[in-house]
Amino acid sequence: MNTSQSRQRAAAAFIARGWPVFPLTPGAKKPLRHCNLCSSKSPDYQPHRTAADCPHPADTCHGFHVATTDPDKVTGWFSRYPDMNIGISTGPARLVVVDLDVNKEGAAPPPQYNGLAAHGGDVFALALERYGQTYPGDTLIVGTPSKGLHLYWTLPDGITVNKSEGAFGWNIDVRSTGGYIVAPTSATPDGEYRRLSAGLDPLPAPQWLLHHLEGTGHMPKPPAPVNRPPYRGPRTTSQQGRVGLADLAAQLAGAPEGQRHRVLCTVTTAAAYLVQAGRCTEADMRAEIYSAGRVAQRDENEIHQAIESAFDYVGRRGAA
Ligand SMILES: [Zn+2]
Ligand SMILES: [Zn+2]
Repeated sequence: MNTSQSRQRAAAAFIARGWPVFPLTPGAKKPLRHCNLCSSKSPDYQPHRTAADCPHPADTCHGFHVATTDPDKVTGWFSRYPDMNIGISTGPARLVVVDLDVNKEGAAPPPQYNGLAAHGGDVFALALERYGQTYPGDTLIVGTPSKGLHLYWTLPDGITVNKSEGAFGWNIDVRSTGGYIVAPTSATPDGEYRRLSAGLDPLPAPQWLLHHLEGTGHMPKPPAPVNRPPYRGPRTTSQQGRVGLADLAAQLAGAPEGQRHRVLCTVTTAAAYLVQAGRCTEADMRAEIYSAGRVAQRDENEIHQAIESAFDYVGRRGAA
């Protein structure tokens, strides 16, 4: 079987899974070049935004916007561009792909990764450790020509993950809504995108990953509630509130390594409920969480985020 045939077979397997595909430039990671009507650099350009208002039936123009699960259309593309690479439109495929890059230029990592991480793979390993997870070797994993890795998961219904907003971590990209991934069997002059895992089926995205994607700003924020009255906590902390807070702080301070981030989030949410129930002041709650969080070696920003998202969560619940 030649390259084009194996790539066509791969494309058929992707669309059988409901993953829309589209053509990429042979030997490259970019979509095929736009025609003159669609290319803003051409004198014939007819201004329009996307495939929806394209002046001709956009076929290969407009990149992932023309991705399809129609086998005839895909066969047609391969007959015209036998050497084309394959892109998968990750949003409609309901996939989230975590792209671990290799730090090719050997750039210095940001200060928080100094001595801990030299590549995206190291940053991902740190995230695994933080959540007490092991390497997710059972999901779909693809090795890239630049020695990077693409880790694929399926998204649960109702969850949207943004492509480039947010910051999963240094040298890590996230592909989902509004983006695409170069699919296995595609190739560049440096080599092939090669499946490394046993199967082609990604696992459902695990809770820790969804939690991390939310915490790093990859999920769209829910719309701000309109006219929600500002929350007013109690003026003093009751004896009961003091005991409750101390108990939560002890849980956090004593959390075992690998579970500390998770415990920070659950304990902070419980503490926000104490404020909401009128048992302690917001100031006392913040002070306890900060000091216990520092004992658990959480950084200030992480603690701050945990507190804000706990109040958001409790507030949303309260308002519902
Ligand atoms: Zn066009
Ligand atoms: Zn167009």
